[in-house]
Amino acid sequence: MKDKLMVLDEQQKQTGVSRRAFLKTITGTAAGIGISQVFNPVLISAMEKALETHPVLWIQGQSCTGCSVSLLNSVDPSIADILLKVISLQFHPTIMAAEGGVAMENLFKIAEAYNGKFSLVVEGAIPVAADGKFCIVGEFNHQEMTMVDLVKDLGKKAGSVLAVGACAAYGGIPAAEGNVTGATGVMDFFKLYGIQTPVVNIPGCPPHPDWIVGSIAHLLTKGLPELDDDGRPVIFYGNNIHDNCPHVEEYDAGEMAMTLSDAKGCRMDLGCKGPDTYADCYKRKWNSGMNWCVDNAVCIGCVEPGFPDASSPFYEPA
Ligand code: SF4
Ligand code: SF4
Repeated sequence: MKDKLMVLDEQQKQTGVSRRAFLKTITGTAAGIGISQVFNPVLISAMEKALETHPVLWIQGQSCTGCSVSLLNSVDPSIADILLKVISLQFHPTIMAAEGGVAMENLFKIAEAYNGKFSLVVEGAIPVAADGKFCIVGEFNHQEMTMVDLVKDLGKKAGSVLAVGACAAYGGIPAAEGNVTGATGVMDFFKLYGIQTPVVNIPGCPPHPDWIVGSIAHLLTKGLPELDDDGRPVIFYGNNIHDNCPHVEEYDAGEMAMTLSDAKGCRMDLGCKGPDTYADCYKRKWNSGMNWCVDNAVCIGCVEPGFPDASSPFYEPA
């Protein structure tokens, strides 16, 4: 173990990020969003222990890879450093070097070795129609594996599952009207197959990188976060967008924006779904804290279970 930590420390010297720097960053972020109480000095040693004992395996089904891209947009420290050197991410189809049978074999070896201890991240919906044949993810023991096979197998062995993005959480865009592939979110999939592993939903199209990293950090160090009725961590999805929007006073006064380029005025008449949406985008903001949807467009309710059908049309010209 000592040797492994020395190698890790050497890697961190090269990349310029340490576990302590990462945790400091997370703590700073957390302070702004009211979750600082979950991060304390004990977390540092817990995270070091998690590196040795708690791998994270990330798999992808019916996804556009946008959730991974959102995560990769994390800037300080860079997500590449977080994922490769801080969180023990041992499988990710988009960013790992291994491929094909070798990668699949390694995936199952890790799942066996850490049975009941690893966290499984699912990105994208799971198509259950046609015996799962709409989504073939690889080959194992000379047999084709569907996303259905993979989530059934790894879902039972995992200690916890994070359903990252609207599609993994609730079916999302692949499950929109028509849904010929039988696209299903993780919680519904687990109900279908009687799998009991706890699931944390991190919806969004895509989800904010902080929601993903913060939830993984919470799982690794403090266990499951408190969840709302839709399976989302209350620390990120506990407040209503409309109630906290900078335009709410204009809404109360009946002052409505007529076009998306109007700097002033509530955007409800343009299709804003803020009143039905729960997330902290209004204070966390996106693109390294630069802006958020309501600054330039409208909230389209991307974190809610009915998205996208329930919030369409997204934009309604006044
Ligand atoms: S712009 Fe949207 S979130 Fe903001 S006050 Fe109007 S309806 Fe509510
Ligand atoms: S403001 Fe609305 S549409 Fe934009 S990311 Fe947040 S929840 Fe999704």
